[in-house]
Amino acid sequence: MKLLSIIVPCYNEEENIRDFYDELMKTEDFFKGHDVDFEILYVNDGSKDGTVPEVKKLHEEDERVHLINFSRNFGKEAAIYAGLQKSKGDFVVMLDCDLQDPPALLPEMYGYIVNEGYDSVATRRVTRKGEPPIRSFFARRFYSLINKMSRTEIVDGARDYRLMTRQFVDAILSMEEYNRFSKGIFGWVGFTTKWLEYENIERKKGETKWSFWKLFVYALDGITAFSTVPLAVASVLGVVFCILAVILIIVTIIRKIVFGDSTSGWPSLVCIISLVSGVQLFCLGIVGQYLSKTYLEVKRRPIYIVKEEL
Ligand code: UDP
Ligand code: MG
Repeated sequence: MKLLSIIVPCYNEEENIRDFYDELMKTEDFFKGHDVDFEILYVNDGSKDGTVPEVKKLHEEDERVHLINFSRNFGKEAAIYAGLQKSKGDFVVMLDCDLQDPPALLPEMYGYIVNEGYDSVATRRVTRKGEPPIRSFFARRFYSLINKMSRTEIVDGARDYRLMTRQFVDAILSMEEYNRFSKGIFGWVGFTTKWLEYENIERKKGETKWSFWKLFVYALDGITAFSTVPLAVASVLGVVFCILAVILIIVTIIRKIVFGDSTSGWPSLVCIISLVSGVQLFCLGIVGQYLSKTYLEVKRRPIYIVKEEL
């Protein structure tokens, strides 16, 4: 008998817990036929609604259902990490509770791993139907930008829905960083990944937990976690402004000697000072971003805290 661990991060998903379970159970016969058992880990990421009682009800009905209950909201990345750490399966899959990641794909994904020897099977959505256009626009810009800046490949539209072998999971767990950007981590560990594509499915019930601002901060986290190009940009800007300054000094000296005027040019001086101090603050900000990440990293705080486990 093999074991398949199913990790489900939940944050205020009371309406979706049971729907998800029912949907998952439709694949049960397939896996039974292949001698695979389930282990379902609901990770409650500090929900403020009835998520925990819902999972407990399921746990009473079905002993394969487990609950990892966080002491507060630590974010989806932390929930995924906790699920991976607690999972015991030979195969591990994580999917969202809102049925945007259809469990019906699981048999096909499993097939790629056992029959074709892939280490992981990941999914990406090829459309962004149902998403605000402005969000899609910035999402696209983000992916093209980060792929230019980072050597780790980060796939546009990739979801966190992914089936992995134990070896792949152990590789991910060996990355113990505090600032976790899964989309980058999955790419960084390597191995072979099969990509399945599907059209975006809108959330069944409840609403998305990601505001535009949260996504923006997440995007910045992703860039600082997987690229140091912004630091190089800061240095390049510094060099460019030094060269400009030298040229200006030479021009000013020549003007003084040849034409004898040295008092004109006050407005342009103000412009230059404002521009250069702006660039300086911008570069300082970039350095600050990396410093703050380093600061959080060296504190070695736990990524999550568990309040209760069933
Ligand atoms: N989620 C979580 N912690 C958070 C935010 C979200 O565990 O702080 C879970 C959420 O319950 C869901 C999944 O992560 O199962 C994806 O969230 P959501 O559907 O809101 O994101 P979207 O699909 O809109 O990107
Ligand atoms: Mg969703």
